[in-house]
Amino acid sequence: MRTAVGPLLSVAWRNALDLVFPRRCVGCGAFGDFLCGDCLDATPRAAPPRCSVCWMPGEDDVCGRCRGGTFAFEEARCPFVFSGPAREAVHALKYQGVSAIAEVMGRMMAECLDAWSLRVGALVPLPLTGPRRRARGYNQSELLAREVSRLSGVPLARRLLERRKGARPQALAADEDARRANVAEAFAVRQRDPLPGPLLLVDDVMTSGATLDACARALRGAGHGPVYALTFGRED
Ligand SMILES: [Zn+2]
Ligand SMILES: [Zn+2]
Repeated sequence: MRTAVGPLLSVAWRNALDLVFPRRCVGCGAFGDFLCGDCLDATPRAAPPRCSVCWMPGEDDVCGRCRGGTFAFEEARCPFVFSGPAREAVHALKYQGVSAIAEVMGRMMAECLDAWSLRVGALVPLPLTGPRRRARGYNQSELLAREVSRLSGVPLARRLLERRKGARPQALAADEDARRANVAEAFAVRQRDPLPGPLLLVDDVMTSGATLDACARALRGAGHGPVYALTFGRED
């Protein structure tokens, strides 16, 4: 099934952007692409053996944390460990306005989804708060999800999740429980009608997994799911 999502950038836009952000590799500085083939090859892959749920490195099928039922998502996957050129790519996308790098990042994520052989009904990008989105001009998770959608044919559920206004910044929450409660309050589900099939959350990086967990919890609470998660990288 193909969706109506077009290429991430039209040719005209790409040419205009190339003037502002020349296509230089974030890893080695070579001109031509935002992440060159050599740097992609040199970036550490998030390869097995890993926990089949949270994808943390380890010999066990399911790690201790996941055996305790920590996460509301079923499984998480990503192509890269968050280091080297993968870290530079996320930084360029999030903090340097290089939105076009989402194209190569999304391509690697689509390949990861393909290798995962997971059948999902829709892609759900993690939302940003309004002010953050306005400050950046785009939601980086949505750009990644759009590219994965274009390549995989899985439709995008762009506005299924939203960030509630006034959720307190993470740093203010005292301990892990408080942070978890704080994060859980931060997301709301806009659509109550169940979507067909499992949902796939899409984000740039998985760190503790708390944010993906909160989103999965919100979706499950609204009757959606099961929920899986795909990111570009993860902090091991
Ligand atoms: Zn390079
Ligand atoms: Zn785990």
